[in-house]
Amino acid sequence: MIILAKVVLRKGYLSDKQVLSIDAQLTELRAFAREQGLQIVEEFVEKQSAKSLGRPIFGEMLERIESGEAQGIVSWAPDRLARNSVDGGRVIYLLDTGKLASLKFPTFWCDNTSQGKFMLSMAFGQSKYYVDSLSENTKRGLRQKVRMGHCPSLAPVGYINDVRTKTITVDKKRSKIIKQVFQEYVKGNMRLEDVADFLAHSGVTTRTGKRISKTKASFILSNPFYIGLFKYGGELHEGKHEPIIAKKLFDEAQAVLKRRGQPDRKPKNEPQPYCGLISCASCGMMITAENKTKRQKNGNVHHYVYYRCTKKSKTQRCTEMSLRSEEMDRQVSSLIKSVSLPTDWAEELNRVAIVEHKTSAHSATRLVKEKEENIQTIAIKLERLLNGYLDQVIDEQDYRTQKAKLLSEKKSLEGEITSLSHHANDWLAPFEDWLKDAMDLDKIASDSNLFAKKVTAKEIFGSHLRLGGKVVAVAAGDAPQNGSVYAPTQWAALRAAHSSVGFEPTSSILVPGAGIEPARHFE
Ligand SMILES: [Zn+2]
Repeated sequence: MIILAKVVLRKGYLSDKQVLSIDAQLTELRAFAREQGLQIVEEFVEKQSAKSLGRPIFGEMLERIESGEAQGIVSWAPDRLARNSVDGGRVIYLLDTGKLASLKFPTFWCDNTSQGKFMLSMAFGQSKYYVDSLSENTKRGLRQKVRMGHCPSLAPVGYINDVRTKTITVDKKRSKIIKQVFQEYVKGNMRLEDVADFLAHSGVTTRTGKRISKTKASFILSNPFYIGLFKYGGELHEGKHEPIIAKKLFDEAQAVLKRRGQPDRKPKNEPQPYCGLISCASCGMMITAENKTKRQKNGNVHHYVYYRCTKKSKTQRCTEMSLRSEEMDRQVSSLIKSVSLPTDWAEELNRVAIVEHKTSAHSATRLVKEKEENIQTIAIKLERLLNGYLDQVIDEQDYRTQKAKLLSEKKSLEGEITSLSHHANDWLAPFEDWLKDAMDLDKIASDSNLFAKKVTAKEIFGSHLRLGGKVVAVAAGDAPQNGSVYAPTQWAALRAAHSSVGFEPTSSILVPGAGIEPARHFE
């Protein structure tokens, strides 16, 4: 049997919705025709409303049926084919005279019997039918939107709207800057103000060329678009665009945003390099800096910077004395030097790492397979969820929450697979970099760049530096306090190794089990 397919669209749709609807209708009609074993002679698409008379394409289609070119019509729904009595009458007349053998709709049952024709004439004439079919049409539109995965809005910084292909592509230069922003921000030492500065220095501005605000910076750091999702109509969707931020990095940034959620307070004095690094050994409050001016009798004026306890404790009166900045610098430098890595240790560590590197490849392959299976399970769940929502078994709020959760899980798994397959065995290079860093500490400690020293000290000692009796030292007992999470780093292990020198033979210090090996991506 030969069937002429026809798609009629209602007027008054927005132009992009119109495109979406035609695509969706055609996709489903072709599948329907295949299922029914029908051969399509021609596809007709008419954008004029089925309500109005004198539609040229509709007329041409009926003429070709009358001339015997085809014996049937496939259309989305009766209301798409004819919604005025004249057109409807012509279709039914063709059925009566046998010129039209069959009329098929995926959404409506009708056969060439008197009962079928009666049902059809009802359908053609009734606008109520249109109202009923609206919910079906809405579902179809939604499915298509989800299927297409296109974000219908302006591309965020780091992406470009490609006008020609109507897609969103990666902006090579700016995407690198965005990546840097995330990488720097998760280190936890940046305020949103600093993020805005960083972007300004890198030449990233708003669309109108203005400086990016703190609010906008926060928006950038929390935009799921960067991991391949997008928000549309309050709902999270999977995008077709390429992600530029790894899910893991994104999650870390969200944690930092949450932790630093309080509004920034502006420091009153010029910030000094070692502020925020050390706390008081007596009362536990932070050590701050203070400018002091001394005037000598002979008229000379000297400016000094002192570091002292903020003495903000309400339960304890602190009597700790302040420390001159030069002395502070000398002490911090010597602490950094104390953990620098001796060359012979570095060589031994490198040898152990290379052996370890070989054995980790096997377990990675197994893990990738496991995670791929998990992703498949999520895809099934997503499909079920969408069906549940479209069948109105699940309400919109639940649907959105569940969908966001599943998509987030899926992205995590995808990220883990990527890092497993590409980077599981990539830890060797960063580890070797770290060995180099550890050997370089001597140089940093002797340098005059105080900010670099602070960053290094923060990385090595975390928040474990104390000032007491004019001496900066690492707090005794690095154990977690008050249940706070303290992740042991390679620096902590290195420090521990240093302190055990002289008590244990060097060989046992360098055993990787001691914790000097780097953290793996999996586990
Ligand atoms: Zn104090």
